[in-house]
Amino acid sequence: MSFVSKNELDYWLEHVRIYANNGTVADYIPALANQSPEISAAAFYSVDGECPSAGQSNYKFTIQSVSKVFILALALIQHGEEAVFNRVGKEPSSDPFYSIRKLELESPGKPLNPMINAGALAVTNMIRGRHSEEMVGEILDFMRRLCQDDSVTYDRDVAESEFQTAFLNRSLAYFMKQNGIITGSVEELLDVYTKQCAIEMNVKQLARIGAVFANDGRDPDTNVPLIPATVARICKTFMVTCGMYDNSGTFAINVGIPAKSGVSGAILGVIKNEGGLAVFGPSLDKKGNSVVGIELLEKLTQEKKWSIY
Ligand code: GLN
Repeated sequence: MSFVSKNELDYWLEHVRIYANNGTVADYIPALANQSPEISAAAFYSVDGECPSAGQSNYKFTIQSVSKVFILALALIQHGEEAVFNRVGKEPSSDPFYSIRKLELESPGKPLNPMINAGALAVTNMIRGRHSEEMVGEILDFMRRLCQDDSVTYDRDVAESEFQTAFLNRSLAYFMKQNGIITGSVEELLDVYTKQCAIEMNVKQLARIGAVFANDGRDPDTNVPLIPATVARICKTFMVTCGMYDNSGTFAINVGIPAKSGVSGAILGVIKNEGGLAVFGPSLDKKGNSVVGIELLEKLTQEKKWSIY
């Protein structure tokens, strides 16, 4: 039996859907502005392979910053801890995810952590491949393994829309290139980064990946290792310290599980040895977190006493 029932998910999603009125849909990526704030969905994928879900659970959304966790995992698998943490730090930033100011303070321009845009750009720059197409191929292969679904891909319109308007991310990348943190073509890097952010899936697929992390890197259906346990542990720790942007401290008190959010309105939570919980609702609070997602996670984790603290 999975640890959360469909009835429970239905009940809590119905209860918190109304909070969508308290936020706004992200519009700095033009294609995201089209998302309807009314859409909401939740799914729990248990470590033994059950997946109850609620709401529009087949609706596909782009995962945006949730991808930062998976790219970190892939870079750690490909290059190891030492190489990755030569390029990116391990400390929370307490600034918004797009902030540039601490890049100048840190010596020599190393981003504070891999969950903010600067850090994620530095990590993406490490993914294997002779050019952007091969790098995107590596990323999609990895995502397809985690989902056990070869149809996983990215939304071309959202990727293109962000590529055309990613002036701040370009600035971060050029700043880091000047300091030797990033190598090669910034335009190719932006191409890869915007495509990884535009990878699309539904809450059931996202929750499944959460279950891999909850299961110390092993597939929830077959128990086959997909990610080394150490890599899964490092990723979950970053989700705790930096996963909810500059709201991570408040989230740790109110919810208390490893989680990562994206500006599309996705949040992925990991409950160790239990499963992955994915919530989607595009209406965001001022820090960029899904209002429906935060409410549902608060209610469910408090009821289930899931806080790791
Ligand atoms: N693609 C988005 C960006 O770089 C991801 C940010 C996010 O989800 N917080 O701005």
